[in-house]
Amino acid sequence: MSFDEIIKLKGPDTKIIEGIAAAPGYAIGPVFIYQKEIIEIYPAVSLTTDYELEALDFALERSKKELKKVIEFSREKLNERMAGIFEAHLMILEDPMLIESIRKNIIEDRHSAEYSVDVEFKKYLQQMRKTDDQLMLERANEIEDIKFRIIRNLQRKRWESKLRQSVIVVAKNLTPADTVLFTRNDVLAYVSEMGGLTSHTAILARALNIPAVVGIRGLINQLENDKTIVVDGFNGLIIINPNEEILEYYKNKIHQYSLRKKKYEELSNVICKTKDNHHIKLMSNIDFLDEIPFAIASGSEGVGLFRTENLFFQKGTFPNETEQIEAYLDLSSKFYPNVVTIRTFDIGGDKINFNEQYNETNPFLGWRGIRLLLDLPEILKTQFRAILISSVYKNVRVMLPMVSSLDEVIKAKEIFNETKKELKANGIKFDENIKFGIMVEIPSIVYCLKELSKYIDFVSVGTNDLTQYLLAVDRGNEKVFKSYQEFHPALIRVLRLITKELYRSKIEVSICGELASNLKAVPLLLGLGYNVLSVNEYLLPEIKKLILNIKLNDCKKLAVKCLNSSTQSEIIKYLDEFIKKYKGENNESL
Ligand code: PEP
Ligand code: MG
Repeated sequence: MSFDEIIKLKGPDTKIIEGIAAAPGYAIGPVFIYQKEIIEIYPAVSLTTDYELEALDFALERSKKELKKVIEFSREKLNERMAGIFEAHLMILEDPMLIESIRKNIIEDRHSAEYSVDVEFKKYLQQMRKTDDQLMLERANEIEDIKFRIIRNLQRKRWESKLRQSVIVVAKNLTPADTVLFTRNDVLAYVSEMGGLTSHTAILARALNIPAVVGIRGLINQLENDKTIVVDGFNGLIIINPNEEILEYYKNKIHQYSLRKKKYEELSNVICKTKDNHHIKLMSNIDFLDEIPFAIASGSEGVGLFRTENLFFQKGTFPNETEQIEAYLDLSSKFYPNVVTIRTFDIGGDKINFNEQYNETNPFLGWRGIRLLLDLPEILKTQFRAILISSVYKNVRVMLPMVSSLDEVIKAKEIFNETKKELKANGIKFDENIKFGIMVEIPSIVYCLKELSKYIDFVSVGTNDLTQYLLAVDRGNEKVFKSYQEFHPALIRVLRLITKELYRSKIEVSICGELASNLKAVPLLLGLGYNVLSVNEYLLPEIKKLILNIKLNDCKKLAVKCLNSSTQSEIIKYLDEFIKKYKGENNESL
């Protein structure tokens, strides 16, 4: 059902608020407004220096103990990668420079421990908050949480994470620790006023399988504790004062969704073909290695995108050759004989900033992706070596991110060929026919595809960045995300231009942006000529189910209508009609 149809169901008091869909799923339940106790910092003057130093040691020890418990719990409930988020917090608590500066403040300025902790953390935070980089701001909130943890322990207070009943937790800003610890109770969903898709809270909610909607400013003032609301984590909606019709609708959805999850287990071995017998290859996007088993269980036919920058993210620096080989071999062996596509580090922009000293006024248009790697040829070469050495099963492909010109591809290919030569000279085995490809995610490169075909074997379309650069809208900025029109007519036309160009030059094409994971978009993408989709593992079965029940011929007709449309709303109308017809024919309610 589309947003318009949900609106039709609502009663006079019902309020539907749109936010960012951070983790899929639905929930109906009572609100629990989680307001962090406002910790007051007591006056600056110390009792005695020894007393304050002792109190600091006690609070640091207790904070570390608490965090270690969170790490243990995350390991049990989630995995090593998620626990890593908190290991990084523990490292801050153990940072000798920070602790020394707090101690100095206590001793030399004769301040209280609380005041010293506050002052020293503030120095860090002020620095971090100078930016308008969403990711950095989110990390600053996490560091502030560490500060509050120490101060709470200096005040010898305890954190309460017990909930009386199953609730929807609503907060201004949920920290990663809150997100994990609340799950010791029965949390139905998470909602927060702050945060974006890339926040650790969103990542954790997805991993915990708890629906979440984030980025709704001013929401708490509109809510009351214990009142029932609906959270729609698929569409990013919060529904206040839901009437009977809305409640019925969502109860049905919750029921269908859980049935469907079970049913899809049976689908994993079914070949993905349209009703008129065209094979559509469904691959998965892998962010972290522990997603591999889930992707395989979902019936994925390979990896269309492995985001290697996450190896950097986990380690805090570039992984060395051996670490990379270990990761890539893990991927290629587990997916064998299916293909895995390893994308070289996509660093910079909204992603990881590897050089803290280097600040850009315009990082989205700055030093990122392949530009950065070409300036650091040793890093690129090490990565190429690791990818080549891992290609022994002959199911590995290499892909460059953020390509904007032919020159970049030529230069990177030169380094790639040079690396191959060196390996060969040293008798190291690799797949000599390894495929070399690029991401198409910067508009300029769409117009260079013909010339590029000499240098590349495949392309993967990254609609996340392509949309961002085509429409000049920051994809992570919650203020403008409404202008991020994923069905903008210009984007649909560009997507068609790409398949047309590549069809002529016989270059393989797939699509790995979020659009491919959007059920509504799938028939359109098929109709535009995309027959390989790389999607999020948890949505793969639903996408397969849809494809099994539609005809490519109908998708083509749909694509023609959308290509002739001049507004996003017209396109969405056609897509909704298509999905509705499909559901009607198959008695489905997605
Ligand atoms: C994209 O831009 O669509 C893409 C798949 O790459 P990423 O989301 O990693 O930037
Ligand atoms: Mg991208």
